[in-house]
Amino acid sequence: MNTLLLPASDDSVAQAADLIKNGELVGFPTETVYGLGADALNARAVLDIFAAKGRPADNPLIVHIARWEEMEPLCHVNGMARKLADAFWPGPLTLILPKKELVPREVTAGLDSVAIRMPSHPVARALIEKSGCPIAAPSGNRSGRPSPTLARHMMEDMDGRIPLILDGGPCDVGVESTVVALTGDVATVLRPGGVTPEMIAAVLGEVQVADSVMRPLKEGEAAPSPGMKHKHYAPKAHMTLYEGEAEAVARRIKEEYDCLDGAEKGLILAASGHLALYGSRSCADLGQDEWAAAHNIFALLRQADADGVTRVFSESWPENGVGLAVMNRMARAAGFDIVQV
Ligand code: AMP
Ligand code: MG
Repeated sequence: MNTLLLPASDDSVAQAADLIKNGELVGFPTETVYGLGADALNARAVLDIFAAKGRPADNPLIVHIARWEEMEPLCHVNGMARKLADAFWPGPLTLILPKKELVPREVTAGLDSVAIRMPSHPVARALIEKSGCPIAAPSGNRSGRPSPTLARHMMEDMDGRIPLILDGGPCDVGVESTVVALTGDVATVLRPGGVTPEMIAAVLGEVQVADSVMRPLKEGEAAPSPGMKHKHYAPKAHMTLYEGEAEAVARRIKEEYDCLDGAEKGLILAASGHLALYGSRSCADLGQDEWAAAHNIFALLRQADADGVTRVFSESWPENGVGLAVMNRMARAAGFDIVQV
């Protein structure tokens, strides 16, 4: 299959909507990361998403809608959902609610709940509107790889597998949506993202963060969200995260970097303000704050792959605000190889 990469325009969005209506797959930009979309009500098209990504069959998809009225046929709405949607939709927040019959089990990987989000990106919204159906879309990477934040990243992973990718420029947030389960008494964050636990607590008064957000699942432990079971976001290089006071972390990273043998290629991920600590060693700038780090992290991991890096040494971010989402992605990218300095 020949994959077209077109700048998002009225014409290309109309072309993409026709493909979706025909049960085909389309790559499109959202404010979080690029998504790989199909008609959420077409079970066969949904299965094609799993095949194109190489996604484990037990990892459910997020259904994207453009208007609140689309919720009612898909799920059982509750008060928490209404409040959160009022506050944060359209935006980077996914709500898990009990599903209705209309949603194919292929979308939810057999679960009785469904994940729904209303994106704010104008191209995503136009695509949903023009397609006339909810769009099931996971991140547009091959399973396990860093999520795409540029159309070019999606092309790297999906060239030859899907007919069309819409290019809407770089994604604003840069990490996937916050996933919050609203199926119990207390809202529970299953995956941190651009809408932070602090922001959710300000609306609902109370929120939990699943503790497996920042650690690997234990042997035999049930995953609150299937996505937690799988290897994620990983560069080809072995990556290690270092936590501690900045100067001590830099000393430790430099020691390890300087021990690499000639066959290895190292890269240090550091905050803008710390780059000078690493002298002439090969560094990539994570940014000035946690929002910049969220925006940059996946592109930097992909660049490390493109540059043939074999070892990544990364600084950490404080786990408050969107820093929790950054650390969740980095910890998983590192396979939880985290060193306390
Ligand atoms: P992605 O589509 O790559 O952004 O991943 C979607 C995330 O949402 C994955 O981590 C899924 O496991 C999670 N998810 C989707 N549907 C559900 C659900 N019904 N219950 C719990 N987690 C879900
Ligand atoms: Mg993903």
